[in-house]
Amino acid sequence: MSLYENIELIRERINKAALKVNRDPKDIKLLAVTKTRSIETIEEALSNNIEFIGENKVQEAEDKIPSLIGKFKEFHFIGHLQSNKINKLMKLRPALIHSIDKYSTANKLNNYLKQHSIIQDVLIEVNTSGEENKFGITPDETLPLIRSISQLENIKIKGLMTISMFTHDEKIIRKSFIKLRKLFNEIKTSEIPNVEMKFLSMGMTNDFEIAIEEGANIIRIGTAIFGTRNY
Ligand SMILES: *Cc1c(COP(=O)(O)O)cnc(C)c1O
Repeated sequence: MSLYENIELIRERINKAALKVNRDPKDIKLLAVTKTRSIETIEEALSNNIEFIGENKVQEAEDKIPSLIGKFKEFHFIGHLQSNKINKLMKLRPALIHSIDKYSTANKLNNYLKQHSIIQDVLIEVNTSGEENKFGITPDETLPLIRSISQLENIKIKGLMTISMFTHDEKIIRKSFIKLRKLFNEIKTSEIPNVEMKFLSMGMTNDFEIAIEEGANIIRIGTAIFGTRNY
């Protein structure tokens, strides 16, 4: 299938999953995950109705994003952020960083932002599956972390992100997503100054329909758009 057909098919699946739970499909942002893809392939996706792109490595983003400026609407950073890569990442002007899970990184990011007089939108990454090899703060520690980061003036927390377990067991996946949505609502109710619970980033190729059913409004899709990755 062509890239165009893959993208059309995903839009149809998004519509169907949203309508199943009485949601407006327009409220769901499709983030095309472009890691490992060439600039030419990304350009092709961008000329086929893709507006939002996500990368997970600073080095790779540095190699590709500058030549794509003007062609995408938003670039999102979705990978683990090492504090020594903050400067390089910020030069690429990400619209949203999905993966803040530590106060120390947030604090360093805030120092950079203050120096350059910029405000940065971020999501807090939560480890909802309990897998030890995953990044993300534990659900129990999420609210305290958000309270601390909310004191950093140049960072705006805009929501939560998670990666579910890679499994075919739908129940396990759904449990992760429900956990994140509940946390999202709990934080919303807490009305913490400088924190807006707007985005729930969950769902990838393997599980985005379940994520939509559970309230995701950003889904991050690589394989279903571009095919299997060759590292
Ligand atoms: C690679 C990646 C995705 C996309 O995964 P697919 O299964 O290819 O859709 C989504 N989110 C993050 C954080 C990723 O690193």
